[in-house]
Amino acid sequence: MGVTPMPRGEFSKPVRRDALRRSGGLCEASGPVYGLEPGQRCNAPLSHGVEFDHYPVPATERDSDGLGNCVACCKTCHGHKTRTFDIPIQAKTKRVSDKHLGIRPPSRLRSAGFRPAEPQHSATREIRRKGEV
Ligand SMILES: [Zn+2]
Repeated sequence: MGVTPMPRGEFSKPVRRDALRRSGGLCEASGPVYGLEPGQRCNAPLSHGVEFDHYPVPATERDSDGLGNCVACCKTCHGHKTRTFDIPIQAKTKRVSDKHLGIRPPSRLRSAGFRPAEPQHSATREIRRKGEV
């Protein structure tokens, strides 16, 4: 039996429907991972657009596409988590996997590396999140 890999980050339609129903139409994201206080739920109305986030199992993991790992959340929460949580996790996963496969950096010589990115100035409005001053 051939296995067709599911595109990464895809929940099935029934899972999306169930997650949205469970959410009551309000963003389910909660806690620091989404830029909120511990235990605080976002509750933003999802009528303007809902996104489905993989949590707590990263989308890169097997069996991450079930309802229990599907968070119906608003764009703001999803974006915050993607920037601050998912991308660092994925980078780490990749490094670990490379090491496992015997892929090593081409040289032990280290350059100074990249400077940290400049603060972003292109946002059209200031993004202020709950829990941040
Ligand atoms: Zn939210």
